[in-house]
Amino acid sequence: MRQLTREEWRSERVSKFGEDPAKARYVCPKCKNVASYEDFQIFKENPDLKVDFETPAFNCLGRYSEKVDCDWAAYGLFGTLGEGIKILTEASGFEVFDFAK
Ligand SMILES: [Zn+2]
Repeated sequence: MRQLTREEWRSERVSKFGEDPAKARYVCPKCKNVASYEDFQIFKENPDLKVDFETPAFNCLGRYSEKVDCDWAAYGLFGTLGEGIKILTEASGFEVFDFAK
């Protein structure tokens, strides 16, 4: 699994998708669905759902929509199944979904 600092992760996101974080697309390691923040906007009316620019880096769209039959999360027991990116922190780190190609 690739390991990046937060700054390296951000730089890679910008080089792939531009400055607007809403445009960044991430791949669910389980079902391979690709989603961006924009895909999560349809749920914005529901105040119980906390959605921000990094939500699609941690959650399969299926956790929010019945259109995708998957509930994978990068912070779950099996992380990103070895297919994500590990973000290094002072403590240790955490996993996020990989960027879409
Ligand atoms: Zn999924």
